[in-house]
Amino acid sequence: MSVAQAPVLGPDATIGILGGGQLGRMLALAAARLGLKCHVFCPEPLSPAFDVVRRVTEADYADTSALDRFADDVDVVTYEFENVPAETATFLAARKPVLPDPAVLASTQDRLVEKRFVEKLGIGTARFVAVDSPADLAAALDQVGRPAILKTRRFGYDGKGQTAIRNGSDHAGAWREIGAQPAILEAFVPFEREVSVVAARGHDGRIECFDVTENEHRDHILKVSRAPAAVTPAVAQEATRIAERIAEAFAYVGVLAVEMFVVKDGGGHAVLVNEIAPRVHNSGHWTIDGASVSQFEQHIRAIAGWPLATPVRHGRVEMTNLIGAEVDDYRNLLSQPGTAVHLYGKAGVRPGRKMGHVTRIFEGD
Ligand code: AMP
Repeated sequence: MSVAQAPVLGPDATIGILGGGQLGRMLALAAARLGLKCHVFCPEPLSPAFDVVRRVTEADYADTSALDRFADDVDVVTYEFENVPAETATFLAARKPVLPDPAVLASTQDRLVEKRFVEKLGIGTARFVAVDSPADLAAALDQVGRPAILKTRRFGYDGKGQTAIRNGSDHAGAWREIGAQPAILEAFVPFEREVSVVAARGHDGRIECFDVTENEHRDHILKVSRAPAAVTPAVAQEATRIAERIAEAFAYVGVLAVEMFVVKDGGGHAVLVNEIAPRVHNSGHWTIDGASVSQFEQHIRAIAGWPLATPVRHGRVEMTNLIGAEVDDYRNLLSQPGTAVHLYGKAGVRPGRKMGHVTRIFEGD
């Protein structure tokens, strides 16, 4: 079903969410605040989103009878992760509106397709070359130079499925390290900072962006996000405009995030797109406590066909992820004045697992 056929939801509608992680959980909490109900579909037992919704389906994404029942129960379907199998999205889209349009998934599940899409819009990226074999990789290294980063085309996240190739390092080893699968080689970008823009686009094409956010990663995992990013007004405007153009090019409905590198360029700066996430994003978590509307509520408003809000930030905001055993400090964090604590209710602590986050708001802009 196309967006043109997507209904404007009534106040008692049910939203179907594919995926039951913390993003699904925070989407459902935002929906509940607006009086909307949610039904979460996820194969994993004990999914964090299961705890906060009216109905859950614990089934495989290929289980068509479960998908049929799910479709019957909901008014619109959305997703909290970009690796929704294409067959699942197509199956559901024949029954209920799926927003954002599943066509977006085809462009964002594959780094090569995504980079070409961005390039076609005239937006800068790291130099990249498609790589399908060790021989391709050797040729690509000659073109791109070293250091470079080899990334699998599909299913990469939090630094998984990628490896750096430095001067003197063995390219055949790098090829094996990423599992000898279709990949892209990217030039290493000596960025000054990493930023992201979370944008919402409604049924009517209106776009609202949150402030440009600066992101700090540790071990390839987002650790701290700060809003606003310490960038010039020109960079902030450019980053925002890039996110808007991408949302427009997809005729997108919902929230998306664009991760970007800010690099020195002559006397000024250039902004290069690293990745597009067709969903709410970790770098937008600060909006729950730090803005008049959250990225989760904007997404729900957009897919419901409801008016978007114009976000107003409450001061300078910092969001810190609680990763792995860091969550064990929750009692201390709960006692800190001015700290908003979010715990995702995940059953087991594992290294690298996002267990919660805290947001701090500072006076000033
Ligand atoms: P990604 O999975 O593409 O989001 O990459 C994860 C992280 O690796 C990014 O947030 C950057 O910190 C780093 N990274 C990815 N690609 C590049 C690149 N081409 N140059 C420099 N750093 C990169």
